[in-house]
Amino acid sequence: MQVEESISCPYCGQEFGLVIDTSVGLQRFTTDCEVCCRPFEVVVESEPGEILSLDVLGN
Ligand SMILES: [Zn+2]
Repeated sequence: MQVEESISCPYCGQEFGLVIDTSVGLQRFTTDCEVCCRPFEVVVESEPGEILSLDVLGN
């Protein structure tokens, strides 16, 4: 089950939407900011259909 969550880039502060697969309990992945194109790490804890916590980690 996928949920769209809005996150803020740790570098430029731009908010944008990210689609999270909530069937995975805990996931950690790298994504690129849509605006400044810098990669950053996202850590998501979720239950199916619901995001429990979402952390954005810059370098
Ligand atoms: Zn950015």
